[in-house]
Amino acid sequence: MLGMTLEKMSKSHEVCAYCGSADTLTIDHVVPISRWREYRVARRVLDNKSNRVLACLKCNAEKGALTPREWFAKHPEYKTRFMGEAKYLSNAVRQLLER
Ligand SMILES: [Zn+2]
Repeated sequence: MLGMTLEKMSKSHEVCAYCGSADTLTIDHVVPISRWREYRVARRVLDNKSNRVLACLKCNAEKGALTPREWFAKHPEYKTRFMGEAKYLSNAVRQLLER
């Protein structure tokens, strides 16, 4: 029983970093790798685990290659959750969030 509870808890923590859904989770690059040149950073800064979050398929598809700024302009209600979920973002990625 305890095992089940723990399993349930750890599973329930795996939710979309944007909307909180647990449906069909995928890996999303917070800053799209395809846009690295616009940000004037090395590609490896973006092709890095600190730039990856869990996102549900719906958010991932809708976000596409939007920058975080464009994405949060569209869904301002997702930003607070995101900042709480993505504590491990590198400072380099954090600095790109507002650009
Ligand atoms: Zn989502």
